[in-house]
Amino acid sequence: MLTGMQIAVLGGDARQLEVIRKLTELDAKVFLTGFEQLAHAYTGAVKESLEDLPVNELDAIILPVAGTNMEGKIETIFSSSQVVLTEDFLNNTPEHCTIYSGISNDYLSELTAKANRKLVQLFERNDVAIYNSIPTVEGAIMMAIQHTDFTIHGSNVIVLGLGRTGMSVARSFHALGAKVKVGARKTEHIARISEMGLTPFFTSELENEVDHVDICINTIPHKIITANVLAKMPSRTLIIDLASKPGGTDFRYAEKRGIKAILAPGLPGIVAPKTAGKILANVLGQLLYEEFEIGKGKQS
Ligand code: NAP
Repeated sequence: MLTGMQIAVLGGDARQLEVIRKLTELDAKVFLTGFEQLAHAYTGAVKESLEDLPVNELDAIILPVAGTNMEGKIETIFSSSQVVLTEDFLNNTPEHCTIYSGISNDYLSELTAKANRKLVQLFERNDVAIYNSIPTVEGAIMMAIQHTDFTIHGSNVIVLGLGRTGMSVARSFHALGAKVKVGARKTEHIARISEMGLTPFFTSELENEVDHVDICINTIPHKIITANVLAKMPSRTLIIDLASKPGGTDFRYAEKRGIKAILAPGLPGIVAPKTAGKILANVLGQLLYEEFEIGKGKQS
């Protein structure tokens, strides 16, 4: 339980509702900033403007998955007011106050470093990335169905990258009956791809592997589907680029060649916000509990 812990949830989308539900269930005292248009009320959670938060008593601050933008602005789907995270604000929090975010950017990383507050990026954790790969795969399947006139079963699919997302994508398309080839750069990944019953190739050979591809799904956050690669692809190919912005595809050249290439960020939040929220809520509940116990240990 988190009884006695004071936590501010600043902004966010539907995923944050699962987080709020979890924190109130665990008996934390929760302050909601950027939620005034949210009709639902949670026992144990109060809506407060940023100015009215008990900043110097906060044990933790939960930011939306995206953190802040480069000006410190926090996305607030349930509010029309501006919420901006500033150095002054962080300086007024207790030293042990931890900031939780999905990802970070230079602004947020520098701000927390300057204020000497711990920043936890949930999406850097293996467990979160692996759980998140489940709704991501479902989103990729949805896109493949929406944007093709043939079945996934029997189609030639290339998956780029055998990381946490790539592995789930490759396995699921294989299970749906696609002929799946997977591109990686490490020999251990090549071995794993073979072990999974899929066809491996080195990404350095990508150009020579794409001549029959129907669907190419990229998870490598690096410009990998270059103009040279696109020039060898059939124009019927559908590219679903899952890698974080700006993706790994030369979108300009793909368009020129008439190849449909779609950058598809944030699929978990789109196809399954409740599940995506639960993934974050469960991990946050555990992390906050650990921090809380450590804090109590230091006091006694
Ligand atoms: P990950 O576990 O780090 O996997 C990335 C893979 O890319 C690794 O296997 C890595 O191989 C490979 N890679 C990186 N640079 C490469 C290069 N230059 N050449 C060949 N391979 C390279 O990351 P992840 O969790 O799977 O996430 C992958 C991407 O998808 C990220 O950009 C993430 O933000 C994004 N994502 C998007 C969604 C969505 O909804 N669209 C959902 C989840 C994740 P090595 O091991 O050899 O470095």
